[in-house]
Amino acid sequence: MDKIVSLSRRRGFVFPSSEIYGGLGSTFDYGHYGVLMKNNIRARWFEAMVQDRDDIVAIDSAIILHPRVWEASGHVGGFTDPLVDCRTCKLRFRADKLEDSSCGRKPSKRPGETPDCDLTEPRQFNLMFETTVGALQEEGSRAFLRPETAQGIFINFKNVLQIARRKPPFGIAQVGKSFRNEITPGNFLFRVREFEQMEMEYFVPPAEAEEWYRYWIEERLNWYLQYGLRGSRLRVREHGPEERSHYSQGTSDIEYLYPIGWSELEGVANRGDFDLTQHSEYSATKLEYVGPDGERYVPYVIEPAVSIERIMVALLVDAYDEEIVAERERTVLRLHPKMAPVIAAVLPLIGKSDNMVGKARSLYEELRRRHSVEYDDSGAIGRRYRRQDEIGTPWAFTIDEQTLADDTVTVRDRDSLAQERLPIGGVRAWLEQALERDWRTPKQD
Ligand code: ATP
Repeated sequence: MDKIVSLSRRRGFVFPSSEIYGGLGSTFDYGHYGVLMKNNIRARWFEAMVQDRDDIVAIDSAIILHPRVWEASGHVGGFTDPLVDCRTCKLRFRADKLEDSSCGRKPSKRPGETPDCDLTEPRQFNLMFETTVGALQEEGSRAFLRPETAQGIFINFKNVLQIARRKPPFGIAQVGKSFRNEITPGNFLFRVREFEQMEMEYFVPPAEAEEWYRYWIEERLNWYLQYGLRGSRLRVREHGPEERSHYSQGTSDIEYLYPIGWSELEGVANRGDFDLTQHSEYSATKLEYVGPDGERYVPYVIEPAVSIERIMVALLVDAYDEEIVAERERTVLRLHPKMAPVIAAVLPLIGKSDNMVGKARSLYEELRRRHSVEYDDSGAIGRRYRRQDEIGTPWAFTIDEQTLADDTVTVRDRDSLAQERLPIGGVRAWLEQALERDWRTPKQD
């Protein structure tokens, strides 16, 4: 994880936030490549969940919703984690995650393991961030930053049913920021207080819920495999009844083998009819499906939910590689080409050659209309390749002496380091085809 954090910072993917003020723990800002990579993760998710399907529509609800929403959903009463304080080291821990935490005095020990540890009894701590709406801070103005995007979907169920004219099974997808006042954030982006969630609520006839629950576990697992995560590092873990949330009829975590061990990447839950029933009761608006021949029921909901942050960490960890090439070490991010922040680099071999620069610039101008590409003419060519390897750019097109003679360029492959020559006029079509090819990581398990 340290190597990923340091590369992310060095190459401007992710910066610790508010650094000039000493930083704000476990809060991060995204630099240029981080933004490009997040855009890719979001776009690939949206393609798979909305664009490529007939049965799912998008929504973008507000972050601050009516406070009653969170009473109905159970968050005001129950969105809590058990918290313990240590009276000796003054640190705070999640009582159910003590085995993943370190003692403040002796980091090799768990909290409570040394005779000096003095832990309080666990008490429940609500993870929602509170705020006030309007100029007056009075009881009626209390509101919350959403801790999940799902509730913004449930409260729009009726709108979508009527206006988008859907009938179950159908889904509503949303991507946006969620906020949780985590007791022990950490492990880089894995657990942060502000994250971008991607959730889809799939409304089904109750009798079909189990079948769709299994379907979505499979779909989501395949999505990770499609985008190059190694199968040996992914597994599905089904929750036992004692671990499930109050609303859940069944929950499975898609886990990834992060450097901290197997941990939840994405959750897929069968939420039953809990949410629609609660909101019907609290809002006095019937949230149900009424069929053309009068059948009526409250649909069950299957929910795949994940954050861009957890995907980003998994992709970076899976992609990070170091190898020796020509007696020199190279660090390379073997990212799936559709996840890489930059798809191709255009490099004139000699940055001082006006002819090479001219040709390289015009190829770059052509490619950047469609793709995220980079132009670089500074420094030795080897150093420029290494820079691109470190940010995971799958291909580099190099303009050299021969280009000036016959209008061909070399394309260098990030993973195999193979080089081939292409007519400059065919580069765009070549790139488009290369992007559609299946990609598998060359990394061994
Ligand atoms: P955990 O048990 O790790 O706290 P959770 O079960 O509370 O997670 P969910 O409520 O199921 O998580 O949230 C759905 C998804 O949102 C998670 O699978 C994860 O991808 C993401 N997520 C949740 N909390 C965080 C966080 N603090 N930082 C980054 N991503 C998060």
